[in-house]
Amino acid sequence: MTSPVPMALPERPPFTLRAAVFTPRQAGGHMHLPDARVEVDAAGRLASVAAWEGAPGEVIDLRPWLLMPGLVDLHAHLPQLPNAGVGAGLDLLTWLERYIFPLEREFDVATAEEVAPAAFRAFARAGTTTVVAYGALWADSLDACFQAAEAHGIRAVIGKVMMDRLSYDTDRDPREVLELSLRQSTELCARWHGRDDGRLLYAFTPRFAVSCSAEMLAASARAAKEAGAYWQTHLSEDRGEIAEVSRLFPDATDYTDVYDRAGGLGRRAILAHAIHLSEREVARLAQAGAVVVHCPSSNLFLASGAMPLARYLSAGIRIGLGSDVAAGPDAPLFSVMRAGAYTQNALRSAGLTDAPPLAPADWLRLGTLAGAQALGLDDRIGSLEAGKEADLIAVDPSLTLPLEGVGARAHDGPDEVLSRLIFRAHPAMVRGAWVRGRLLPA
Ligand SMILES: [Zn+2]
Repeated sequence: MTSPVPMALPERPPFTLRAAVFTPRQAGGHMHLPDARVEVDAAGRLASVAAWEGAPGEVIDLRPWLLMPGLVDLHAHLPQLPNAGVGAGLDLLTWLERYIFPLEREFDVATAEEVAPAAFRAFARAGTTTVVAYGALWADSLDACFQAAEAHGIRAVIGKVMMDRLSYDTDRDPREVLELSLRQSTELCARWHGRDDGRLLYAFTPRFAVSCSAEMLAASARAAKEAGAYWQTHLSEDRGEIAEVSRLFPDATDYTDVYDRAGGLGRRAILAHAIHLSEREVARLAQAGAVVVHCPSSNLFLASGAMPLARYLSAGIRIGLGSDVAAGPDAPLFSVMRAGAYTQNALRSAGLTDAPPLAPADWLRLGTLAGAQALGLDDRIGSLEAGKEADLIAVDPSLTLPLEGVGARAHDGPDEVLSRLIFRAHPAMVRGAWVRGRLLPA
């Protein structure tokens, strides 16, 4: 039975909700409360998350919905969203040429003003309350993206794409491109990094080693460190790409070493994909504390490969999830979790791993608290625990039931509910998403 939509969800704090709660816990494990009281104070913080005890005061009753922490998407491309789902069967480099570079080339201010607000609404609809995104090459379009995020209310880490090789900024010579790109990135970072008490953050964004000189990689890494900002790029996604990187950087030991030599690796390095790594690279990434963003739906869509998640987790690499829209066809991280689970099952059935499968709660942790930890924001977000900022979502599990009009079975517990959220995700099941207790337009 589909539960009725309440007349109005609270749009700003303070408010108190009554609903089920499922959340990973900072101290490890998770907490499930079948009937809970969640208080958000006037500052947009979680004042308390506890079992329902019928205390007095005005309460918005969302039962039988489930409250969870907002999802943290560590890898997406704002200009690419209009092409999500097209280009099936192409490899990475062909797909970029045919479907992506043209979109990014045309991503001017007017396009950004149209696409970015729609993209943030789509993320909110998907339950994503924090998104780490690439913009395009043009600095003024980045201002438009940040302005859209500022107005929308989503928590966002965004960066201007930097490329001084294969750049579609063809009017300038590469040396000039490097200087201009660095200056514009530094100015954007000064303008936006930390805006609204840290809700908006900046990531220096050299696209990947194929399209960046060693000088650009090093200069961007240095600038990110000086500003205390993030440094994001792609690593070891596709075999054709890896071959090209070893041709371009013959002195480097491997792909990871290209970024290491640039001074890029560290706890603020956010590396998307990292599928085909040697033991040396795995050990080095773990030692450096760099973040690997697992983007399984993108990896399956472009046939890039199957990331050995269990191996990386046991090596101690910091890992979160990314939609990688538009190489990933879908913004919702629930779809990404499903693709990730299928990928792990495929590795197991092919005899390539004997690690036990992740439970639904493990996938939820990767998409929430682990993402917050990857960004160093887990003191603020990532779980529903008192004192954190109220980045949360309300999900309607009834929409995931297999048979319309047939209710959940009495023995269904959190494992069954979470399993269906992942494997039978419904586009409307996220009924509300809040950042600091402010309802995001969806
Ligand atoms: Zn990407």
